[in-house]
Amino acid sequence: MSDPSPMTVPAVRAPGRRRLILGLVAAALIAVAFVALFPALADYSDIWDDIRSIAPVTLGVLTLLAIGHQLINPLMTMAVIPDLTYRHALVARLASTAAANTIPGGGAIGVGITYVMLGRWGHPGPQIGAAVALTGVWNNLVKLLLPVVALAGALITGLSMPDLVDATLIGASAMLVVMMVAIAVARSGLRHRVLGPVERLVARVRRAFRKGAPPPEGSPVTEFFAAVGTALGTRWRHMLLATLAAHVSLYLVLLACLRAIGGDSTGVAWPEVLAGFSIIRLVSAIPVTPGGLGVAELGLTGIIAAGMDEPGVEMVAAAVLLFRLFTYLVPTILGGVVAIGWQRSKNKSKGAARWGLDDVPPEHLEDAVCFRCRVPGVERWDLDPFALVDCPSCGQAFMSPRLNEAGRTALYGNAKYFDDGVYRSKGAESMQRRWSAGRLDLIQRHLDDRPAPRVFEVGCAYGMFLEAARDRGFELGGLEYSAIAARTATERLGVPIHVGEVMSLAPSGDWDAVAFWDVIEHVPDPGAFLHAVAGLTRPGGVIAFSCPNFDSWPARLLRTRWWTLKPHKHIWHYRKHDLRTMLGEAGMQPITMIRSPLRRANWVRVDSLVAVARKPG
Ligand SMILES: [Zn+2]
Repeated sequence: MSDPSPMTVPAVRAPGRRRLILGLVAAALIAVAFVALFPALADYSDIWDDIRSIAPVTLGVLTLLAIGHQLINPLMTMAVIPDLTYRHALVARLASTAAANTIPGGGAIGVGITYVMLGRWGHPGPQIGAAVALTGVWNNLVKLLLPVVALAGALITGLSMPDLVDATLIGASAMLVVMMVAIAVARSGLRHRVLGPVERLVARVRRAFRKGAPPPEGSPVTEFFAAVGTALGTRWRHMLLATLAAHVSLYLVLLACLRAIGGDSTGVAWPEVLAGFSIIRLVSAIPVTPGGLGVAELGLTGIIAAGMDEPGVEMVAAAVLLFRLFTYLVPTILGGVVAIGWQRSKNKSKGAARWGLDDVPPEHLEDAVCFRCRVPGVERWDLDPFALVDCPSCGQAFMSPRLNEAGRTALYGNAKYFDDGVYRSKGAESMQRRWSAGRLDLIQRHLDDRPAPRVFEVGCAYGMFLEAARDRGFELGGLEYSAIAARTATERLGVPIHVGEVMSLAPSGDWDAVAFWDVIEHVPDPGAFLHAVAGLTRPGGVIAFSCPNFDSWPARLLRTRWWTLKPHKHIWHYRKHDLRTMLGEAGMQPITMIRSPLRRANWVRVDSLVAVARKPG
């Protein structure tokens, strides 16, 4: 299946140097804010005294309000993804917030975390994308709405605020009006206007990568807009309410902190607090520092305490720090703990066990590049501890990370590998005989029924195919990676079977046929493998092989649940197109590719193919 995965995590990794500079700038800003500027507003020891003087009951109420805000936060995502459980939404929200609050440019990493977590829980990528996009849009709409409410509140209560605050509020209100008008104008033709160019762009990019045009229905872009449309059409009230509730509950925590420290004596009216709150929410849309650290504390204190005397400023400063303790520090720590816990539980419940492996130590894994283009792939499916990636240049699908030399030796050196598989059971033996007969027919036909042809099998396992070939009068040769299997095959056939890899054999160029059944998806470098195989074949001779078919409908429909995916063994997944390219590069001419499960050579194999190619000469 050639769709780029909707599960691909967005490119969140800023180039190292850029990230370092961002980090240094943010750290410097935060240091200046807390070391130089904030102490100029109020003394830290006085603030600490104020906070300590809060009654335990009041502190309890503040804690409940803060918890309430965190519990309301996930509702927005749930409004877009209806089958998302509350627990999952909460965990993803806390973990992504922790990233956004601590890492410079962490907002994008937070989005990535949301994708990975919700994806692991089985939610389709386009739907997650819709949730991320809509949450952002609604958040910004409400951020623009809040200053309007603050302004209205000030007008109603007859409160006069500093000119600067007034100006900001009026500016924000104007922005809201402009946005509303823009949305109304765009609404009529929104879908076609946005969808058309985006789909054309995707089609062009795909053609550039030789992936063919995307199907008009069911492409990730279409699914994304379908999810957005459904959510907007049927649940916009949920979304609006959830977003409003998240903002209002956060505002209430701030208001409660102010009341808890100063009582009504500070004389801060609610519209004034809302004005400061809404301006800081607007400013936080531009992530100068992670989570607005430093900027939010200074800004909130400055706006709310504007025009106050020294004790008043100190109380506001104390309330703001308390507010940030409840709504920044504690949730960030909690989110970090949740993320680590999730990572651990994920490793325990899934991971290597899913692929029938006891455990894959990290030293048995390696990252791979496309054998053809020598570039790393783009992740399509996370198959922990492995991943299926697509070459961004030629589209070849492969596993990275995958088992390395040590990991493969541990896997294939184990006799259990052959006993578990299709090699030993009675039913499978009769199947093997049927395949062998069909494949020998095929080879003989393309060798023009020459008498006593010489056939060499790469990856001959216990020698069933070679045995069938011997019974038809073929001369035999063979190679097997597993020493245990090679020994058994040698005894069975009375012909020495080489142990090792085909690349280490001399290119004798004297075999009429070289066969390799279900091997080419296992080898670390299939390009080198095919060259070596071609080197064994005489000019005019043929190669014949089988492998899983990545174009087949089980592969397309079942995706990560495809039974032949087997990421620990099948490290390359080929489409017909990939095989044609590879054969051409190895100097071979493809003759046929059999995909029908009704042909004996490919009997009942609905997701595999059998190919024959000729060496010119
Ligand atoms: Zn490639």
